[in-house]
Amino acid sequence: MRAAWMVWAAGAAVLSPGVGVAAEPRHPNIILIVADDLGYGDLGCYGNRTTRTPNLDQLAAAGTRFTDFYVSQPVCTASRASLLTGCYANRVSMAGALNHQSRVGLDPNERLLPELLRDAGYATAIYGKWHLGDRPPFLPTRRGFGDFAGLPYSNDNGPLHPTMPDLPPLPFYRGDRVVERDPDQSRFTRRFTDLAVEFIAANAHRPFFLYLPHVMPHVPIFAAPAFRNRSAAGVYGDVVEELDASVGEAVAAVRRHGLERDTLIVFISDNGPFLSYGRHAGSAGPLREGKLTTWDGGVRVPAIMAWPGSLPANRVSRDPLMTIDLLPTLVRLVGAKPPALPIDGRDEGAVIFGRPAAPRQERAYWFYAGDELHAVRVGKWKLHVPHEYLTVDGPPGEGGRYRLEASSGT
Ligand code: MG
Repeated sequence: MRAAWMVWAAGAAVLSPGVGVAAEPRHPNIILIVADDLGYGDLGCYGNRTTRTPNLDQLAAAGTRFTDFYVSQPVCTASRASLLTGCYANRVSMAGALNHQSRVGLDPNERLLPELLRDAGYATAIYGKWHLGDRPPFLPTRRGFGDFAGLPYSNDNGPLHPTMPDLPPLPFYRGDRVVERDPDQSRFTRRFTDLAVEFIAANAHRPFFLYLPHVMPHVPIFAAPAFRNRSAAGVYGDVVEELDASVGEAVAAVRRHGLERDTLIVFISDNGPFLSYGRHAGSAGPLREGKLTTWDGGVRVPAIMAWPGSLPANRVSRDPLMTIDLLPTLVRLVGAKPPALPIDGRDEGAVIFGRPAAPRQERAYWFYAGDELHAVRVGKWKLHVPHEYLTVDGPPGEGGRYRLEASSGT
């Protein structure tokens, strides 16, 4: 296991930014959109019959919908660490969810996807939630992103936390500075969308990597006034419908600049729905349990990718994949330099882009909660070893219906 990096004093371990190399004009732009705590069953193209998600459904029709796409762990920080390093979160010592008191972050020796793409000539930006360390050496502007607007950690890490009182104000960053405290959360999706559209316009002439990890629909949830009371699924549905409209605006911006065939769009969630929040949580659809568990409802997420002309349209892929595979796949795709340290993900370009290839080599995906191994999936099988997990299905008790339960099964 490699160590997380810890800040012991303010101003420690400041890194100099890397130097980009000449752009390769043929390299595709990459737009990576991540919803926070969106459930497997929350989108129309994944079977939801109440919430309207026409833009994501259209994106799936224009590209590929993945039915068995996993995150490495069912919680924000660990999941995002895997997404950006290509490693199981254990390998890079990122567990759970960081908060305002956390002094750890990703070790600067880890090479993150934005750093690798920047060094390959990409313009890079993140608009949304970072959640991989809020001390200066860990901020996105030190980790390969040319621009950052958003939150250093979750939107419940402030006075609006649904159950914890007395948390400090929620900071909103622009670059490496806090520019607001306790921002209006109903404006988050609008703001990140506007910044995304501006970034696409400003970089239409060169390859870009736009990382759009939306804050919503993580509790506390808020929709903009224009989306309130529109969904039959209540405020949660309003929030998801606004996110769907945001995806539509990003796609429209790509089209407006004539970049449709030069842009790979990836949409995923960072983990399953936080079921204990009831009507303020999403649905795992047919899957068991949700966030914080390694059952499929916690770790199997909606995943849609589109890239007209280079990725098959109207396709449903049932191959197991995991976020750890995105970094090596994208690095290979654009000819960027891979990380020097070992990673766990593999180049799965043949599966993702639907290229004819030899039969896929069988491989295992491991599921941990923190450092405790809970399950493994190989092919169509998933084995759970006996473990404790949080469930909302238990009998009413002291903590409501949310309790630890030991179980095994599949
Ligand atoms: Mg999350």
